[in-house]
Amino acid sequence: MTASSTRHPASDPSIAVAQVAIVTGASRGIGAAIARRLARGGYAVVVNYAGKAAEARAVVQAIESAGGQALAVQADVSDAAAVRALFDQAIEAFGRVDVLVNNAGIMPPALPHLADTDDATFERLFAVNVRGTFNTLREAAARLQHGGRIVNFSSSVIGLALPGYAVYAATKSAVETFTHIMAKELRGKNIRINAVAPGPTATDLFLNGKTPETVERLSKMAPLERLGTPGDIAAAVAFLVSEDAGWVNGQTLRANGGVV
Ligand code: NAP
Repeated sequence: MTASSTRHPASDPSIAVAQVAIVTGASRGIGAAIARRLARGGYAVVVNYAGKAAEARAVVQAIESAGGQALAVQADVSDAAAVRALFDQAIEAFGRVDVLVNNAGIMPPALPHLADTDDATFERLFAVNVRGTFNTLREAAARLQHGGRIVNFSSSVIGLALPGYAVYAATKSAVETFTHIMAKELRGKNIRINAVAPGPTATDLFLNGKTPETVERLSKMAPLERLGTPGDIAAAVAFLVSEDAGWVNGQTLRANGGVV
C-alpha cells in the first residue's frame, strides 16, 4: 500500500481491520526486521524512516509481496509535528494504532570518550534517542487503542559500561526510565510498555566505523560467541507485543546472548 492508495480500512468497512503497528526507523537494520516479522504475524505495519526512502519502499514491497499490508512514512522522530503527522497518516491509512515500536536511534561511529564529545554530537544523540522517544510516547498515550503495546529501545551497553559509550548509553538510560515510569502512568488504559536492550547486533549502526578486528573481538564477548542478528531482536519484540507477554509490563528485556 502507498500513501496514495484509495481503499483504506478506515473508510471502507469491507476491508478487514488488522492490528496496526508503527515501527520507527524501519527502513534498515533491526527496525526493518521487526516490520517484516510483525507483518508476518498479521499486523498492518507503518514503516517509518528518516531519509532513506528507497530502503523503506523496499521493506514495504517485501511485506506486500508476502501478502501483508504496509505503508512507508517519512518522519524525523525528533520533530514533534512530524511525529503527530506520522500517527495521523497511520490512522488515515489503517484506522487505528495498536502497537508502537520505538526502534529509531542513532550512535556516532567515532564513539569518543565523554571528555572529547562535542556539543553537536551530544545534542543530536539526545534529540533522536530521547526526544524522539518522548515525542512518540506522548502521541501513543493519547492515540493507542485500549489494549495497546509499546516497545522502546534501550541498549545492553548500559550494563557493559564500555568507554566511548557514555553519552549514547545515557540516552538509553533515559529511555529505560521513560519505560518504567510510563508503565505506571498508563494505568487504566490497559497498555503495556516494555523496553528491549540489544547487545552488539550486526547492522550499520554497530558495524560502521569499526575495524574487522574490533567487530571480531566484540562478537566473541557474549558466551554464545556471535553477534546478534536483526531477526534475534525482532523475535524479542514479537514476544513483547504478543499475548504470551500479557503479564510483562514496565520491564527491560536484555537480548544479547548473555554478554551482560
Ligand atoms: P541502523 O541500522 O542504523 O538503522 C537505524 C534506523 O533508524 C534507520 O531506519 C533510520 O532511517 C532510522 N532513523 C535514524 N534517525 C532517525 C530519525 N531521526 N527519525 C526516524 N528514523 C530515524 O540501526 P539499528 O542497529 O537497526 O538500531 C535500531 C535500534 O537498536 C536503535 O535504537 C539502536 O540504538 C538500538 N540498538 C542497536 C544495537 C546494535 O548493535 N545494532 C545495540 C543496542 C541497541 P534511515 O534509513 O532513513 O536513515
